[in-house]
Amino acid sequence: MAEMKNEFAKEKSLVVIKPDGIQRGLIGEIIKRYENTGLKLVALKMFIPAPDFVEKHYLVDPEWPIKTGTKTIKSYKDKGENPPSEDPLEITRKVLDNLKKYISSGPVVAMVWQGAHAVGLIRKITGSTEPLTSDVGTIRGDYTIDSYSLADIDGRAIRNLIHASGTPEEAEKEIALWFHPEEINEYRLINEAMLYDVNLDGILE
Ligand code: GDP
Ligand code: MG
Repeated sequence: MAEMKNEFAKEKSLVVIKPDGIQRGLIGEIIKRYENTGLKLVALKMFIPAPDFVEKHYLVDPEWPIKTGTKTIKSYKDKGENPPSEDPLEITRKVLDNLKKYISSGPVVAMVWQGAHAVGLIRKITGSTEPLTSDVGTIRGDYTIDSYSLADIDGRAIRNLIHASGTPEEAEKEIALWFHPEEINEYRLINEAMLYDVNLDGILE
């Protein structure tokens, strides 16, 4: 098999099937969607995350609390509603408490997927954060029904089946938190020749 010519094929993304994804019986379906793209699964495990671990995960991006709080306040105002607080960090504290309860409520499946554009492709297939407004054809759009309004009424986190890294930099930090280096498998997938080889010169006898 010819050598892989570029480093793009090494991009990695962390994907976590959250407890609702496990309980809904969607592990196979979710993995299939990522696998069908040609991306390579390089790590996988199942465990019940502790609440403190969930907090560490969301705080891997130091900007996440301020971004999330600001976004939430804006979405209330866009709908003509009053946000529960004008302080973004106070809003995020509640979001984070709800996320800790949600993600630590049962086993999750954590995975690392690798390949060109891994982060962007996985976000595209996963769909946007709120299932109600996620595109048809995405995992969140096709397989669940939750909305911010429903979650807010019940004071809980939005149940959207999956976490997927937002940027390659975020992925690197998240993977370091979720996996030991020796849990990441470095191997070649036969399919990769079709995706990345420059000359496709290994087909004909
Ligand atoms: P993701 O990357 O699409 O999962 O979204 P983010 O990284 O922006 O947020 C992580 C998680 O925080 C989401 O899965 C939601 O559970 C929660 N979250 C983010 N933004 C909001 C929001 O505006 N309101 C509420 N209630 N929760 C939010
Ligand atoms: Mg995110």
